[in-house]
This record gives sequence, structure tokens and C-alpha cells, in this order.
Amino acid sequence: MKKNKKKIIDYMWIISCIYLSLGLFNILFAWLGLLCFSIPLIISLSGRGKKYCNVYCGRGQLLDLMGNKLKMSRKKDIPSFLRSKWFRYGFLTFFMTMFVLMLFNTYMVFSEASELQKFIKILWTFKLPWNWVNTSMVSPWVAQFAFGFYSIMLTSTILGIITMILYKPRSWCVYCPMGTMTQLISKSKYRSNK
Ligand code: SF4
Repeated sequence: MKKNKKKIIDYMWIISCIYLSLGLFNILFAWLGLLCFSIPLIISLSGRGKKYCNVYCGRGQLLDLMGNKLKMSRKKDIPSFLRSKWFRYGFLTFFMTMFVLMLFNTYMVFSEASELQKFIKILWTFKLPWNWVNTSMVSPWVAQFAFGFYSIMLTSTILGIITMILYKPRSWCVYCPMGTMTQLISKSKYRSNK
């Protein structure tokens, strides 16, 4: 029974693939990505450290699979600056700033100060038209959040894949904002329990 459960956990990478694919058909599925934001934080805040990263993260598994099983990774050591505190915390700050900006754009659409913008922004720079999706069944701000959130998820996946190819398979995990946040939470919990 236990063995069977482990096997299911080993296939969490499929959920990551399904999530990214669903966004192609209907951008509103991007809302499901909030689970990837909240579950790791809830697990860390409940004192289980980086269990999400170590066991449940589909993206981590996917990078592992692509890098090791599919041999897409050069398996080089990651440069030391990517491991440094200033880079990891700097990237987390940048990432969260972009997240808040995305929420602000959603608010602007909610308050009817601006119109729904139907595009995906890759690497916070390149706008990709995403006009084929039908968003008429929801309020424009709901769709705007989905476009923004999907952009973030796609961008972080692309960065993960680039770093997987250039360095070791799970090099993205070294500076992944979610990993940095759960690490910070775990450290502060450890200190407060001492
Ligand atoms: S560091 Fe990020 S990508 Fe890596 S396992 Fe943790 S949450 Fe997943």
C-alpha cells in the first residue's frame, strides 16, 4: 500500500504538465496555480519545512526527469553567484514585486480603470497574444488575473528549463522564489523553537 502511494507522488510532474497545457485551451485554469503558491507555504508554516520541495513539487520532478532521464542537462555546476544570498533574495524581491504589479493590473481591470489585456508576458518582457481563449463567462478582472498568473508560471518554468539545460537538472531550485520562501520560513521556525 505504502509503495503504491509513493508511486503516485513520483508522478506529480504530470500535474505540472497538465497545468501548463490547460492554459493553452482556457486561461482560466491558471487560477489553479494558486495551489502551487499556497500549499508549499502552508506546509512550511505548519512546521514541515521543505517537504513540498522534497516530495510533492511537480516542477522539481519535471526538471529532474528532463535533465536526468531525458538527458537534456549538461549537468554542469551552477555558478556560485546564483547560489549567493544576494542573488536568491534579490530574485525573490524582484519576483514578488512583479507579482504585486500583476495584482495591481488585476485591480485596474476590476475598477474599470483599464481594459482586459489578452496576452501572456514571457520573462516579464515579451508579449505573446493569447486571443483565442474565451473569457466571456467571467468578469474581466478574473481573466486578467489568469493571464498575469499564467505568465508568471510560464516564465518560471522557462527559467527552470534554461537553468536545467545549462547546469544541473534541478538548478532552478537553488533560486526558485518558492524554495527561498519556504527556506526562510523553516529557518525562522527552527530559530523560534530553539
Ligand atoms: S525549489 Fe521550487 S521548483 Fe524546486 S522543488 Fe521547491 S518549489 Fe519546486
